[in-house]
Amino acid sequence: MKPQGLARIHALPERLANQIAAGEVVERPASVLKELLENSIDAGAAHIRVDIEHGGTRLIRVRDDGVGIHRDDLALALNRHATSKIATLDDLIHVESLGFRGEALPSIASVSRLELISCTADDDSGWKVVAGDSWTDASTEPVSHPKGTTVTVRDLFYNTPARRKFMRTEKTEYRHIEDVLKRAALARFDCAFSLRHNARQSYALPGASSDTEQSRRVARICGGAFAQCALVLGFEAEGLKLSGWIGEPGYSRGVADLQYFFVNGRMVRDNLLRHAVRHAHDGVVESGRQPAYVLYLELDPAQVDVNVHPSKHEVRFRDARSVHDFISRSIRVALLKPSVSGADASGRVPGAPPFRPRPAEVRDHMVAYQAFHPAVATRAAPGEKPLGEVLDHVDRHYVIARNANGLVVVDARRGCRRIAAERLGAALAGGRIGARPLLVPAAIALGAQGADTLEEHAVTLERLGFDVRRIAHDTVSCRGIPAPLAGGSAEALMTALVAALAGVDSRGSSSDTLLALLEDIIERCDLTAGWSWDRAAMDEHLRDLERLEASGRCGVGERVWRQLEVDDIAQWLAGPDRLDGDGGVT
Ligand code: ADP
Ligand code: MG
Repeated sequence: MKPQGLARIHALPERLANQIAAGEVVERPASVLKELLENSIDAGAAHIRVDIEHGGTRLIRVRDDGVGIHRDDLALALNRHATSKIATLDDLIHVESLGFRGEALPSIASVSRLELISCTADDDSGWKVVAGDSWTDASTEPVSHPKGTTVTVRDLFYNTPARRKFMRTEKTEYRHIEDVLKRAALARFDCAFSLRHNARQSYALPGASSDTEQSRRVARICGGAFAQCALVLGFEAEGLKLSGWIGEPGYSRGVADLQYFFVNGRMVRDNLLRHAVRHAHDGVVESGRQPAYVLYLELDPAQVDVNVHPSKHEVRFRDARSVHDFISRSIRVALLKPSVSGADASGRVPGAPPFRPRPAEVRDHMVAYQAFHPAVATRAAPGEKPLGEVLDHVDRHYVIARNANGLVVVDARRGCRRIAAERLGAALAGGRIGARPLLVPAAIALGAQGADTLEEHAVTLERLGFDVRRIAHDTVSCRGIPAPLAGGSAEALMTALVAALAGVDSRGSSSDTLLALLEDIIERCDLTAGWSWDRAAMDEHLRDLERLEASGRCGVGERVWRQLEVDDIAQWLAGPDRLDGDGGVT
């Protein structure tokens, strides 16, 4: 860039400053609607009516029956950083309203023709204010209006041509509008919503309090197919509550269009949460397919920072790890429950109110959880980790943990094998083995013969979910591995793969051969080879094993872990020395 001549500094005019701020909050008509709906909900509305013209480019009007705005505050509401919702930094930490930044109305007003009418319970009439260049020159006049607020936004971006150019067709913008309305309707069952587009009614959702009414709303918004096969979820532990609906195992979608996550009533799109849900679906939904869910997480507002992003889509948790773990584990238990306990009529919509998980259901899940592992469950209290807390590892092979009964020794290699085998089984039950792309492709030297072998079996490998290409005469690049083997080191897997392929006919790749091949790889490969052996990784392993046991799918075979109770330790210490005589103190 060419250096410019010395320019003097001046404060930006108010409207321009608001237009700049609008760049962050107001992206398209749907983002205007989102802010207006949040304001109506914050105002305690029981009925919200939305009118849209031309995909929202011509008109967005939101009318509510909430508390209204005091006449003297009307113009102030259009001022930047004017809010009734927080007053101190401490309020921000505990914020429970959807809005708090005081930016939405002035930002919207700066890029549209905005009119605000409101009437409080104390007013005899409504008052109207039309946004001008500055909030100080906005004037109020009386108009008739029932208690509540109406915000009318016309000609969005009329004065910012660059922004206007980014708007898509009426149809596309309207689809985004509908999305926003759906999210709000899933966030607030107690509120009635109606949506009209070009004077035609497209949604009329009455307030929903009973189970039946709520499931009717879910069916209306998410479709009957989802509502039919959704499992109701209700978990609670250590100040965290998770409730809502998830598609049963076997229900998945080609695109991620049915994934709603609400944190304390706020719709968020958060990577940590998305990952936790995804993680729970490992082996249940093949990679490439998407799970469907409407989930509600509730926790102490002080445990979550919502002021991470101007549009408040992302959140930050104080204890991200335990939130992730709690969500992942809860969903896993819910997903695996019906496959073991048989058909479960009560586990389907119509079901629990999404806001507060009913204790009966939480108990229900606990009972199911315990039924799978009576030996552990009789001793471990609900919510406790049966395999305990990780202490350390011995020789990058055994994980040592402590639980209420003493020490637990886990053979991590066997554990990994068991988990991989179970995932493989689940993937096969789902009809397909998915591929898991690697974050970083790995170049692996296998020797010319090894590379030849892999090349010969290219078709088989692809069907198994391996993404392998030869990049030199003796080297291959691995970009993806079968989803059930996720977590294994690419190098160890390739080596095991070459060994397993020896003697396999490259033309015969029936499903049985494929299955046998994968089982062979699982047997041959040390799946912990790529492990960091840090505490988080080991902890995750134990939790995976617990989930596996809880699922009742762990099958029989070599022992994976053993409990050393205090008595066992005492006996062992008092017992004879090792046979070769070199252990213990004599
Ligand atoms: P924020 O929601 O972050 O406080 P806004 O610019 O969205 O900021 O709104 C400014 C203020 O106007 C709010 O704090 C609230 O007091 C008032 N307000 C806006 N919309 C409504 C509404 N529909 N009903 C009642 N009050 C409203
Ligand atoms: Mg707001």
